[in-house]
Parts: sequence; structure tokens; C-alpha cells
Amino acid sequence: MPLDAIPAPVRKPIPRGQLLINGLWRDARDGATMVTTDPTTEAEITTVARASAADAEAAIAAAYDAFETGPWSRMRHEDRAKILFRMADLLDDRVDDFAIREAMDMGMPYRDFCDVIMPHCSGLFRFFAGQAMAHMDGAYRTSYESNIRILTRREPLGVVGAITPWNFPLALTCSKIAPALAAGNVVIHKPASDTPLTALALAQVALDAGVPEGVYNLITGPGGVIGDALVKSPRVDKIAFTGSTSVGMNLIRNGADTVKHQTMELGGKSPNIIFADANMEAALQAAFWGIFWNKGEVCVAGSRILIERSIYDEFVERFSALARDAVLGDPLDPKTQLGPIATKSEYEKILGYVEEGKRTARLTAGGGAPKIGGKGLFIEATVFADASNDLRISQEEIFGPVVPLIPFEDEEDAIRLANATTYGLASGIQTSDLGRALRLADRIKAGTVWLNTWHKYHPNAPFGGYKMSGYGREQGAEALENYTQYKTVWANLG
Ligand code: NAD
Repeated sequence: MPLDAIPAPVRKPIPRGQLLINGLWRDARDGATMVTTDPTTEAEITTVARASAADAEAAIAAAYDAFETGPWSRMRHEDRAKILFRMADLLDDRVDDFAIREAMDMGMPYRDFCDVIMPHCSGLFRFFAGQAMAHMDGAYRTSYESNIRILTRREPLGVVGAITPWNFPLALTCSKIAPALAAGNVVIHKPASDTPLTALALAQVALDAGVPEGVYNLITGPGGVIGDALVKSPRVDKIAFTGSTSVGMNLIRNGADTVKHQTMELGGKSPNIIFADANMEAALQAAFWGIFWNKGEVCVAGSRILIERSIYDEFVERFSALARDAVLGDPLDPKTQLGPIATKSEYEKILGYVEEGKRTARLTAGGGAPKIGGKGLFIEATVFADASNDLRISQEEIFGPVVPLIPFEDEEDAIRLANATTYGLASGIQTSDLGRALRLADRIKAGTVWLNTWHKYHPNAPFGGYKMSGYGREQGAEALENYTQYKTVWANLG
């Protein structure tokens, strides 16, 4: 169907948000609230509860009690799976509500949410429901002595605190909650304060699907206060974190006193290597969407484009032309490719990098911050040519629609530049030489390598970082390792 024929969804009133503790929606104890705003209209959307440390303690107590005395961790895997499959179905049924919330709250294009994000989110619940049924059972092993049997059990960790960022609010929550619940843990979710709206709707989905009281708790409030309460509590067994490397480092330090299990999904500055033998049209598309999807507010954005010298000038020209044609607009409009930047502070930070880029490289596209209908935190798709890999715009995570184009000489040079970063989240190689693609994939220090593509995801594909991009894996059967522990029982048969 042509895009013009699709009716655009419309903004709608969103009820005020409360905390979900022990199966009940309630206000913060002191009645405090915070505002969430729409980056397209710059108007207030609604208010949500602003929890204090006392609310966090109440959630921890409820979760702890639900784990110790409730049915969830002892339930048959099949029964837990049924509830998770129901959550998946409810997510699909409510896609329109979720997509409008994400568009209003963080500027994610409605179509991208419906086409990519929601199928992935409901897929995560289905995938982990199945995984838990297949892999949570124990094993029976023999020992050196014939009368001794060894039984191994795989058990949940207990209370999981999930702390998530504002850039893919629903997807990054589901990638934690689905494996955590499937393995029999109980959860406390702390979403980013700027983007709580889909978290509220997901918690309601959990209630409607029949997750028992206390098993799923939601606390909205300031990261420092709530995050601190979760990571320092001896009754919280694990923190599953996605966010910036600096906050991740803080959590690692604060978790030391209680020897907290932690997984860290942190920042990135991912290289996209374009060889001269690549299919130029396909490479341009991979590079364009690699950096500009979700307006560059993507941890795995291809935010350093490395181009073989012999095609550098042609690539710069054609890529910059594509960037100049990028369609900015209301994320609810089906024609929009780049919505607004999610928050005012990020918008200002990105514009600071644009100014830095103008001083240190050659601006070939974008650089502006237009208003649409007089409003909105929009930043144009911005390209800097003749950039070197050691510039700030080439090394620091801009987390917006801004990209440096860096020339390289040969394979060795490409690998050297690709790995010359403190991060190691994702990477890509565009070439028609499959041997070269696989050879280089072995040598890139990153958790994901995309060959002749970008932005491919699946619940079955492990995802996570090397180096300062973090540790632990989300998605794939491997993720269950981060939500379970093994117990060994020695039995003397006499
Ligand atoms: P952030 O680190 O500022 O915040 C993430 C979460 O941590 C939020 O919920 C925030 O409230 C909370 N928080 C803040 N201070 C805290 C503290 N002292 N203790 C505990 N929690 C605290 O990150 P952000 O700006 O929301 O998100 C952008 C960052 O997330 C980028 O660096 C991006 O690369 C990263 N990210 C990584 C991945 C990945 O999978 N590796 C995915 C998406 C985003």
C-alpha cells in the first residue's frame, strides 16, 4: 500500500502512571510525580509517580516475599510458559496502544514500532517460554563411586532488578523480563524517567496475563535513588542493566558489597566497513539505516563509517545526498524516517557534537535543527567527511543522527581502525568477497558482526558487548545463563 494511503494514527490522552507493587497500582508514598513530555510537540503528555527509596524498599519486600513464598518459582515450567505466551498475545493485540505511546514518549516512528519492535518483543516472550520448558530441567549424572549419584538442578536467581534506558524502552525491557520470568525469577522494573509509558502498559499486560502478585513490580523514579536502592539491597539477587557505560560502571562498583549478579549492556561506537567491491546500492542502504534508524538513538548504530579509499569520494557524495533527502517529521506520520530526539538534554548534547564536527571535519549534509510546525526536537541527518578516527566525533558515543566518514587503505588498516575504540558492541562489513567478510568477522572485537546488512535481530541470536560495551548476553538460549544458577546434589544410594 502506498504510504500516502495509510491513515496516520493520532495522539491520545494517556492516563497518569502509578507504581505497581505486589499486584496493586498505587501512588508514590509521598505523592510525588514527574512529567513526561512529547519531543514532537514539546507538550506534557501525562504525569507518573516519582518513587522514593521507601517505595523501592516496598517493591523489594514484595518481590522478595513473592519469590520466597509464592507459587512462581515452584510452578511447573509449562504453567509459567502459558502465562508468558498470554503476555506475548496481549502485546500483539495491543500493538497500536504501545506504538502510539513509544512515538509520543520518545519519538520512535510508529511504523518501525509495529513492523520491527513489537514482533521482536512478543517473540522474546514466546522464545523464552519455550526455552525454559526445554532447558530448565536438571540432569542425573554418575560419579567415581557406583553408589553415588549426582543430581544437578537449574534454579532461578531470585529477585531481578531490571534497569532500562530511554532509547528502545519496550524492547530493552522485554529482553530482560522475558528470560527472567521464564526462569522463575521475580522482577522489579525501573524504566528511564523520560520514557515510562510503555513500561506502564507492559506491567498491565503482565497483570492481565495472570502473573501472580509480587512477581512483576514497576517502579518509576530517579535513576540514582531507585537504582541505588536496587543495586545495594541484599535482597536483590541480580541487576540486568542497559544504559551508558558510566552508569554501568557505577552499578558494578555499588554491587560489589552484596556480590550482585549483573549483566551490562552499555554504549557503543560501531564501525561499518565499506569495501570497494561492495554492492554500492546495498552498502549505501546499510550505512544509511545503520546510523539513522531511530534517529541514531541506537546503541548498535553504525556510527563510524570506514570507507575504502578508492570509492571514498563517490561514497561521500552519494551517502550525503541520501542524508539530505531523509524525511524528518512526526513519528506518527507513516512517511517519517527520522522522528525527534527523545529528550531536550540529548538534543543539546548532540548539537554540541555537531558544532564540534564543524570545527574538526567537513560537513557534507545536515547540521541543522529545524522546527516542524514551530516545534520539536528535530536534528537533521548529519554527515562529516574527511574525518579521522581519533576525533571526538569518531570516538565518543553521540547517540544521535550524526556520523563521521573515515577513509581506509586496505584490510589491515580497516581492522586497525575498526578496533581502535574502547567499545565493542556491534560492527559491519560490506563486501562481495565472502572469504574476506568471514576473515574480518573473526578479527573484529565486537559482540555482533553484520555482513552485508545492518540492524538484524532475533530472539534466538545472542546479543551483547565486548570491551567497555559490557558483559553478559541477552537473547538466545545463552541469556538464560544470566538468570539461573546450578545446584549440585550428591546422593548416597547406600
Ligand atoms: P543511562 O545510563 O543514563 O540510564 C539508564 C538507566 O539507568 C535509566 O533507567 C536511568 O534512570 C538509570 N540510572 C541513572 N543513574 C543511575 C544510577 N546512579 N544507578 C542506577 N541506575 C541509574 O542511559 P540512557 O541515557 O538512558 O541510555 C543511553 C545509553 O544506553 C547509551 O550509552 C546507549 O549506548 C546505551 N544502550 C546500550 C544498549 C545495549 O544493548 N548495549 C542498548 C540501548 C542503549
